[in-house]
Amino acid sequence: MNLRALFAISFSGLMGPHGPTSTMTQSSPPEPSRSLAEPKHYKIKVCLIGEQGVGKTSLVHRFVSGSFDESYIRTLGMRVSRKRVTLDRPSGSVHADLMVSDIMGNRTFLNLFKEAYFEAIQGVLAVFDVTQRDTLLALEAWISALLDRVGLVPVLTLGNKIDIPGRRETSDAEVAEVLRRYNCPVQYTSAKTGENVEDSFRGLAEAILGEDSGL
Ligand code: GDP
Ligand code: MG
Repeated sequence: MNLRALFAISFSGLMGPHGPTSTMTQSSPPEPSRSLAEPKHYKIKVCLIGEQGVGKTSLVHRFVSGSFDESYIRTLGMRVSRKRVTLDRPSGSVHADLMVSDIMGNRTFLNLFKEAYFEAIQGVLAVFDVTQRDTLLALEAWISALLDRVGLVPVLTLGNKIDIPGRRETSDAEVAEVLRRYNCPVQYTSAKTGENVEDSFRGLAEAILGEDSGL
């Protein structure tokens, strides 16, 4: 099943932390920037959430520059990176500039800065490390904080570091159980090898633009 189909399922059945979907606001698809030139051009703002060390900064680096940096660089504060993707739509291709915000992976920090971090966010990658079960369990708190602040936006969960052989601590059943309440689709990635990284960012962009955005 492709990512777009997964998102369609998720958002039809999503329950927020405090009640049913009907109490939450669905953000409308972004407007294309005004230009006579084709193809259409969108700006999309997304961010990453998840515990420190799960690979958020490495995933952004892989997506934006196509490489992996072994040295552990702690993100200080928040950084915004930009990458343009071209998406094939039924009515032709469109450009989307993804503004990707990466936060220092610590929930205390998020509590201090969540107003700024979640400002105008249209979609989220919620990342855990498949070799550290705690990082999966922690996603619930991250997603709750997000939904409280932002409301209903597309959230794609990423199980990262699938390249590490024999160290997997999380089963598909456990992942499904933790995410059951939110019904987010899951994709498995490696920032190290690049597996599924580009597809995940593109899948999120597709979900944000939506089926019915008039493209
Ligand atoms: P962040 O705190 O979530 O931003 O995590 P980082 O991107 O700083 O990564 C934390 C550590 O995990 C670093 O040592 C990275 O080199 C490593 N890392 C990140 N992604 C992967 C991956 O997909 N595979 C492997 N083997 N290591 C990774
Ligand atoms: Mg980081």
